[in-house]
This record gives sequence, structure tokens and C-alpha cells, in this order.
Amino acid sequence: MQQLVLATGNPGKLLEMRELLAPLGFQVLAQSELGVTEVDEPGPGFIENALIKARHAARITGLPAIADDSGLVVPALAGAPGVYSARYAGEDANAEKNNQKLLQAMSDLHGDQRQAYFICQIAAVSAVADPLPLLALGRWQGVILSELQGKKGFGYDPLFAPQGMNCSAAELTPADKNQFSHRGLAMVQLIKQIRSFW
Ligand code: IMP
Repeated sequence: MQQLVLATGNPGKLLEMRELLAPLGFQVLAQSELGVTEVDEPGPGFIENALIKARHAARITGLPAIADDSGLVVPALAGAPGVYSARYAGEDANAEKNNQKLLQAMSDLHGDQRQAYFICQIAAVSAVADPLPLLALGRWQGVILSELQGKKGFGYDPLFAPQGMNCSAAELTPADKNQFSHRGLAMVQLIKQIRSFW
């Protein structure tokens, strides 16, 4: 079976991406299983970070690699936390601290000012020097709640109420989240490209 490495150390992302990649029939390995350490994400955008992570994992493992760079964008906060979503609360950030910082930053924002979206940029390379990386982008619109709701998912999920749903992303089953999320939408596009180019 053809092996493929997922260039992330985030357990929440790993779970979702493994599920989404299942139809391709690859043996999907996490980069940590192959001794790949995390690489700097200098940006400035999601796209640069995704490509750097994918090429880094392909370089170390010699395998095709897929990376996602994702984050939460709040237009009323000038796009924050954006590319800094993982480290929004500082170097020792975790989901709890990030969510508390977001609640604080949004305490005076109401109505449409609470609009937000998740973005997911995926990059896939068949080898480290692949001249034609495959790229896919997904976006998931919603609003930021005023308190945490739900225990599933990861990151900002308990504060994100997807548009058209009467719940937070942390109250969705993994399968439902994958059907609607930024990562799910990007992955569907990526899989089509992998099927025609690899
Ligand atoms: P990075 O892509 O590893 O730089 O980090 C992405 C960060 O964005 C995560 O650590 C989360 O804080 C946030 N994020 C991305 N996707 C999701 C999601 O599906 N749910 C909740 N938080 C997310």
C-alpha cells in the first residue's frame, strides 16, 4: 500500500484528516511516527506555511506529504487570530488559553461583529522537489459564541457556531464536522486533484 505522511502534530487535525483521506486508500502516517519534528511557520500567509510543512515532511521521510495550515479569522479583530491561531495566547498557549483570550478580545463585540470564519489551506507534494504542489482551500463561516459550548473537536470549536446550525462545532460528531468544515471542504477538492495528478 502506498504510504503518505501527514505533516501535523495536532491530534485533532490528525483524526479529521485521516478520516477524510480514507477513500484514497493510502496508508496514512503521522509525521511524529516517522521522527519528523515541527518546522517553523514563518508565513506570511497560510499558503506559505502549508507548503513549508509539506516539503519539510517529504524531505525527512522521502514520502508524499500533505499539510494543512488553518486558523480562525475574525474580521472585527482585523483578521486575528488568523495565521497565529495556534499561538494566539502566547508561546505557552493551549486551546483553553486561546479561547479565553478570544472571549476577552470580543467582549464588547455584538451582532455582526461576531462573524468569523475558519480557513484551511492544504498543500500536498508527491516528493520534496515536486514542481507542482497541489493546493486546496476551504472556508467555514459562523459566529463566535459568548461562552464555551460542547466538548468534541479541538481548538476554537467550542466558541464557533457554524452558520445555519443551532450548535457549536464542538457539539458536532466528527463525521458531521468533516462534512461541513473548512478542512472537509478543502480535502474534497484535494482528493479530486490527487486522483487526477498523482
Ligand atoms: P496551525 O495550522 O497548526 O498553524 O494551527 C491551526 C490552529 O487554528 C489550531 O491550533 C487551532 O487553534 C485553530 N484551528 C484550525 N482548525 C480548527 C478547527 O477545525 N477547529 C478549531 N480550531 C481550529
